[in-house]
Amino acid sequence: MYKYDLHVHTKEGSACARNTGAEMAEMYAREGYSGFFVTDHFYTGNTAVPRDLPWEEWVGRFCEGYRSAKKRGDELGLDVFFGWEFGLGGGTEFLTLGLDEAWLLANPDVCRMDPVTYSTKVHEAGGYLIHAHPYLEASYVPCIRLFPRLVDAVEVLNAPKGDFINARASEYALAYDLTQTAGSDSHNDHPHKLAAVSVPRRPASAAEFIAMLRGREHSPVLVQG
Ligand SMILES: [Zn+2]
Ligand SMILES: [Zn+2]
Repeated sequence: MYKYDLHVHTKEGSACARNTGAEMAEMYAREGYSGFFVTDHFYTGNTAVPRDLPWEEWVGRFCEGYRSAKKRGDELGLDVFFGWEFGLGGGTEFLTLGLDEAWLLANPDVCRMDPVTYSTKVHEAGGYLIHAHPYLEASYVPCIRLFPRLVDAVEVLNAPKGDFINARASEYALAYDLTQTAGSDSHNDHPHKLAAVSVPRRPASAAEFIAMLRGREHSPVLVQG
């Protein structure tokens, strides 16, 4: 089985992250992962990239964490894939996998899309949506919002979140028959807790990885914690 992390932040893309994409790649290699998706906080979330930049430039800078991780990951034999964590406001976040920089450049209105439009556009392009920690409780989360018809999967194991938050997410996924995923939500290269999605084969692309999720060939696993 091969371990992948579907929820990883880098300093280049996320204001709250401490390490570069390259350093994150080194940590995941040390921890025995086969790869990961870089999912930095997007424009409407805690992005590290100044929002007053022209869109093309903003997107270019936003992808730097991925590029840094990918370059070092290639050297270390890790599969590094691109994604982002799309903030809908109020702490609702969708991990968005399977799309690329070109899609972002072609969709400069992405930050103004309502959840239905965002889900429709992402799916039309072959993307995949995971509701990250849907039961998160925090000062910036005024209410818990669920979108069972808009997402493909639910993050039922977010390593640093408590058992209570993860258990509610599992119940939600089961109730709506949504795919269950895991992630570490790592913001530095010495996280206390790590989770992974384990898959039976090494995928040649993000699309192949997503196909395994769609086929439910994977399992969410707690790696350390
Ligand atoms: Zn963060
Ligand atoms: Zn996150």
